[in-house]
Amino acid sequence: MAITAVVLLLAFGAIFYFQACILRQHATHELSVVGEITARECGAAVRFKDEDAASQILSRLKDMPQVVSARLDLANHQRLAFFGTLRDEAEIKAARLKSGFTINGDRIILAQPVMLGGTQEGTLSLLADLRTTTSQLLKLYGSIFTLVLIASLLVAFVLSGQFLRFVTDPILRLADTARTVADHNDYSVRATKTCNDEAGILTDAFNQMLDQIQSQDSKLRGSEEKLAQAQHIAHLGYWERDLDADRIYWSDETYRIFGLQPQEGAMRFDRFVELVHLDDREMVRQAIAKTLDGEARHDIEYRIVRRDGEVRFIHSQGNVVKDSSGQPYRMFGTAQDVTEQKRAEQALRDAEHKYRAIFENAIEGIFQSTPEGKFLSVNPALARIFGYDSPEELIASISDIEQIIYVDPKRREEFKQLIEAQGSVELFEYEVFRKNRSKLWLCENSRVVRDDQGKVSYYEGTVEDITERKRVEEVERASKAKSEFLSRMSHELRTPLNAILGFGQLLERQKPTEVQRKRIGYILSAGKHLLDLINEVLDISRIEAGRMQFSLEPVCVADALEETLDLMRPLATERTIQLSASADIDAGVHVLADRQRFKQVLLNLLNNAVKYTPFFGEVTVSYQVTGNEKVRVLVSDTGPGIPAEKLALLFTPFERLGAEQSAIEGTGLGLALSQRLMQAMGGSIGVESDVGKGSTFWIELPLTKSPLERFPRDREANGVEQPSSEPANRSILYIEDNLSNLALIEQMLAERPGTALLTTMQGKVGLDLARQHSPDLILLDLHLPDVPGWDVLSQLKADSTTRHIPVVVISADATRRQINRLMASGAAHYLTKPLDVNKFFRVLDETSGVDGAEQSAAAAISNGDAKEACPSP
Ligand code: ADP
Repeated sequence: MAITAVVLLLAFGAIFYFQACILRQHATHELSVVGEITARECGAAVRFKDEDAASQILSRLKDMPQVVSARLDLANHQRLAFFGTLRDEAEIKAARLKSGFTINGDRIILAQPVMLGGTQEGTLSLLADLRTTTSQLLKLYGSIFTLVLIASLLVAFVLSGQFLRFVTDPILRLADTARTVADHNDYSVRATKTCNDEAGILTDAFNQMLDQIQSQDSKLRGSEEKLAQAQHIAHLGYWERDLDADRIYWSDETYRIFGLQPQEGAMRFDRFVELVHLDDREMVRQAIAKTLDGEARHDIEYRIVRRDGEVRFIHSQGNVVKDSSGQPYRMFGTAQDVTEQKRAEQALRDAEHKYRAIFENAIEGIFQSTPEGKFLSVNPALARIFGYDSPEELIASISDIEQIIYVDPKRREEFKQLIEAQGSVELFEYEVFRKNRSKLWLCENSRVVRDDQGKVSYYEGTVEDITERKRVEEVERASKAKSEFLSRMSHELRTPLNAILGFGQLLERQKPTEVQRKRIGYILSAGKHLLDLINEVLDISRIEAGRMQFSLEPVCVADALEETLDLMRPLATERTIQLSASADIDAGVHVLADRQRFKQVLLNLLNNAVKYTPFFGEVTVSYQVTGNEKVRVLVSDTGPGIPAEKLALLFTPFERLGAEQSAIEGTGLGLALSQRLMQAMGGSIGVESDVGKGSTFWIELPLTKSPLERFPRDREANGVEQPSSEPANRSILYIEDNLSNLALIEQMLAERPGTALLTTMQGKVGLDLARQHSPDLILLDLHLPDVPGWDVLSQLKADSTTRHIPVVVISADATRRQINRLMASGAAHYLTKPLDVNKFFRVLDETSGVDGAEQSAAAAISNGDAKEACPSP
């Protein structure tokens, strides 16, 4: 607006000046015309010096507003006429003008010669004053200028308002953008470009600047973020302390470490100290004081207690900044949360302590040794194993493991080859010398430890003293060999015994003469003795090998005594021995025992009592419940008694204490077996004897409650058993590879007319015959030349055409495991060789017309023990 005014002013000034010039020109011209006309008019008056005429002519000039003075001079410059003021006349005179103009400001002086007839008669001088005209002009122009100026300013104001928008809008937008950036620290906003003029360029430049700031800001933020992350990961916070203001500034991570929020603001030193664990405060104060006193930066570890009571470990380092006078005014440093590290260190220490304790207290020997054969480290157990007083002594004494320790140095070579090829060895067994040159067996587990180049650094591992295990294994091996031998012997002896006893029994049934009966009696008696011997030896070896199975159950003592007494009565009668039980036998008393084995022991004691008591003697059975929850069964006799010095040998196998000199038969195994059976059932056996008066053998077993339900048991009658009925048209298949056994069964079945016997010595043929003939019963031996008997049984039971046929196994193998196995595979009965003829016929009859399931159940009861299939003693 001001510019407009100035421009207008200048323009009007110029116009005014121009107009003033024109006015002056015009006035000059007008004055010269007036002067020329007036001079002509005045020619006559001048010539004739007519003052009135001259004055009259001049007075006409007064009408002209700008002419303020006029003078008419004669040629001799004498004034003829004049009007105006003296000042004007003086001014005309001073101009001394003869002709022409002179302009002085607003005043114009004209000198016009007065000519008449070609002669200058005088001079007319006119003085015009343009001031008034100029003033009027000035007023005019001033008014116009003012009007124009006002109009211009109005227009300019209106227009500038419009035009300014084009210029200011972009700038305002830039300002807005800048404000947004400043207010929100948001460098992503951009100013909008609306034109390509200077404002557009300015916007571009502004946006470009924002780009750069944003990029820098983003890098800065990235760096800050990374720094924060790094601090967070390292649990490393930053702190700064203004000593003058007593303010401590923490980084976010420092707040987090101390369990506080960054919003909680700056800290003071006192508040910080309050966060430090009570026990560490003094140490922290002193460390910081020392740093302020000029010591090097502090480097301390202390504990803090967070608000929730959690204790954390802090590692802090700090430095001091001093002013020019050496006065500290600032501290700064770091605070790192090292709790996890501390815990890990503690765990490591604990683990080390633990492993050191394991290493020191292990029962196994632990070592590290070089491939060259020196121990690097050993634990006390290894020193003990090798018979040294300390690990140090062992390490110092063994310069070459292979030569000094190994009984067989070649084993060490084998060990080295193995461990270096596989990287480790497991359960490597070898024999070593101890310090005192006694030998030990060791079992070693080791591995190779290699260096960075893969070279073997050392071996490390553990060794265990397995000398005892080796000894036990050796004993077990020997025991197994013994058992196998006995089993084999048993089988080998039972097979011929089967023929001897079987045919002997048949002969006995064929009404022999008295002499023949006597001889047959010898055969049967010798055969039975041998059979007893075999059974008892086998039982003892089974017990000792831990292979005899016992089925412990509540056994009614009264029942067991009654059954065994019944069995003993014939022999007692034969020997005129009075056999009795004490009157007060309570049927409710039970012991925990294996029923058969319990009866076996009772029978043995009763048998001995009857055997060794002279004719007309007495044998009494009684029992008592002892105070320690045991039942003691006593077998007393009025026999010869046993001398005290022999009592110690009473339970020694094959020890008959001189009875072998007498006619009384025996094996010397009965009491030894009884003792082992009692021990195996958790009981005991003993004797009290008075020479010449008699002996009392006793056994003790744990008292137990009576079972809630008791099943009725078959009582096996003693003596010769006759078939209950005569089955007709029965077919039997017998699979057996031993000819004498085949012949025995053939002859036994000859007593059963109507029985067709098919025989074969091979398992496969037996299977074919079974399928073709579908016999009523199959008798099966286990030791067959082509297929094992249990395989034949499995195939028979797997085949739908033969599954229903009852199979009776007849084998010399009387082991419990074998019996159970065959019964579980589907055998109806298991009879052991030598065959008890009565038992054989009973089984034969039972299996006729009875289905398989019932047979199995019946067999499980009657064949509970192999001995039941053998003749009773
Ligand atoms: P045997 O088969 O000889 O009877 P035992 O082991 O049963 O073997 O008995 C060992 C020995 O103890 C017998 O040989 C016998 O000398 C003696 N003996 C056992 N019982 C009695 C008893 N009731 N009276 C006297 N001596 C006995």
